Amino acid sequence: MAKKKTKTARTAKIAKTARTGRNTRKTRKVKTGIERQSTKLTSSVVTESIGDVAMPVVDYLKGKKDISEFVIAKGIKAEVGFVRQMLYKLQNQNLVTYFRKKDREKGWYISYWTFNQKGVPGLALAIKRNRLQMLKERLQNEEKNKGLFYICPGFCSRMEFEAATEAEFRCPECGKALQNQDNGKTIERIRENINELQHSN
Ligand SMILES: [Zn+2]
Repeated sequence: MAKKKTKTARTAKIAKTARTGRNTRKTRKVKTGIERQSTKLTSSVVTESIGDVAMPVVDYLKGKKDISEFVIAKGIKAEVGFVRQMLYKLQNQNLVTYFRKKDREKGWYISYWTFNQKGVPGLALAIKRNRLQMLKERLQNEEKNKGLFYICPGFCSRMEFEAATEAEFRCPECGKALQNQDNGKTIERIRENINELQHSN
């Protein structure tokens, strides 16, 4: 009982130190159109590179500076371990910066985190380039094998001529006879996707 109490008191103290150690001032202002657009871009970049599971941490950090992971955890009502995991992932994508400071009393280090808004456009561009690259490779493969795709009438498999030959023109999943597929529409769709992506910002 007494032991438990000590631990709780200690945890509270760490949180307090972390909270008061640095500036946690919130900036409250009305969002402009540009800000809304940047919020949307941030959210899509985070979701695509890490997953929307990281969004509570990002939302909490936005508009703040140098926040310890303990304060973040408390703020979003999550485990510190989870918050750390998200922060490391964000850091890998250059979306947060941090510094470590030794707690003089406890002798351990506490990390203070800041969202790196400047990293968003660069990551957005990298994601876009990566997707374009994948689409172009896919288009190349579809064009190279034009008219040589085979598909199961039950849509459980699709393969190129060579693989279809190996499967003796039977679906490996359900055994139905594979049908030759005109992939002209697929090619058209990929081209449209590429075009859309190239003209998006
Ligand atoms: Zn099938």
